Amino acid sequence: MLTFDERDLQAHARDFADRVVRPRAAAIDLSREYPHDIVAALVREGFMGMTIPVALGGRGRSFLETALVVEEMAKACTVTARIVVEGNMGAISAIIAYGTPAQQRLAAGLVLAGDKPAICITEPAAGSDATAMTTRADRRGDRWIVNGTKHWITGAGVSKLHLIFALAFDESGRELGIGGFIAVRPAAGLEMVYREPTLGLCGMPEGRLEFRDLEVADDMALPASNGYGRGFADLINAYNSQRVGAGTVAMGIAAGALDLALAFVREREQFGRPIGEFQGLQWMLADMQTQLTASRLMLHAAARSQGPGGRFPDPALAAQAKIFASEAAIRIVNDALQCFGARGYSKDLPLERMTRDVRMFTIAGGTAQVLRTLVAGRMLGWKLPQGRGGA
Ligand SMILES: Cc1cc2nc3c(=O)[nH]c(=O)nc-3n(C[C@H](O)[C@H](O)[C@H](O)COP(=O)(O)OP(=O)(O)OC[C@H]3O[C@@H](n4cnc5c(N)ncnc54)[C@H](O)[C@@H]3O)c2cc1C
Repeated sequence: MLTFDERDLQAHARDFADRVVRPRAAAIDLSREYPHDIVAALVREGFMGMTIPVALGGRGRSFLETALVVEEMAKACTVTARIVVEGNMGAISAIIAYGTPAQQRLAAGLVLAGDKPAICITEPAAGSDATAMTTRADRRGDRWIVNGTKHWITGAGVSKLHLIFALAFDESGRELGIGGFIAVRPAAGLEMVYREPTLGLCGMPEGRLEFRDLEVADDMALPASNGYGRGFADLINAYNSQRVGAGTVAMGIAAGALDLALAFVREREQFGRPIGEFQGLQWMLADMQTQLTASRLMLHAAARSQGPGGRFPDPALAAQAKIFASEAAIRIVNDALQCFGARGYSKDLPLERMTRDVRMFTIAGGTAQVLRTLVAGRMLGWKLPQGRGGA
């Protein structure tokens, strides 16, 4: 049950998505350009940095409130929804939770001004097994020198704030574990060298970043509460919020597709009656709605839950919600397209774009397979056999 304030926020987000976001969605997809105009509008409406504490200029909103906004954006435009996720969850949440006051102020200032932070974990040879990363940060006096390659980095080439995960080494070459290092683009030694020609989410650059002797001042390394390995554990804890966000984007795309299908089956006539009168389609619609409702309930429960330390959603609930919602969304969008017949296959309607966009959510943010390993590990009381589930 949502509170009055949550419903109010939801209505505000729905109105904004209908007026400002939906009319731009097809053009963003076609142009493959990052929508700076939409980001400026998100800032004006207060949808960037909602989760940042009021003392740092944010609105101190919860992950559930953020999820309500994300769903409304995702019904209209997946790229916009992802900007809202990453402008409120993930890297920004990690820095706010675990950063120094100076790091928090820097990150809050950038995000509240419209920057979508980039989180840099995945490497060509270290995907699901992220702890096999080879990007390194070597301590040199009062700074760290970062070298390595990350790929599939969302926002590469447009994001300013980068949270880079690298193996840290002290001056004597002793390995300290994985730590988080904050860099702000433009920076010498931080370059996007390739943009992925993605299937969907075309207005959001996914790119390969190279770090060549990138200098990070010591006070821009995330403080490690228990050695550098602990820095990584903290990040993964924070990442559970982003998993809820990613699952919510998938669920929102599915909700948008179902809305379109419902309107169409009421109006389209064949055999002398609206096609919605045929039981074959009614049962399909009912199954779509059932999966959507289950996804929403799981995501909201995960958003409300508290994992170890109390700051972020419970890892197992977040993983289950993302697995279920991302897989259900692919089926729902596919069935919605089917309701439209040939029209669903045309680029004149958003169904084909939604079909491409929704496909990523069983991959990014921890694949559906690796998240199942995480859930089973929790059930059996075992640790993940490898890595920590991908970014
Ligand atoms: C659109 C998009 C955006 C992304 N954004 C970011 C980002 O901003 N930052 C970032 O750091 N990364 C990002 N990623 C990368 C993402 O985190 C990785 O793609 C993901 O972790 C999987 O890694 P991989 O692609 O190397 O696949 P692999 O790890 O090579 O996996 C390949 C296949 O093997 C399966 N598999 C692997 N290990 C196991 C296992 N132990 N048990 C069962 N099955 C297994 C996987 O499920 C998958 O089906 C993004 C990816 C995409 C597609």
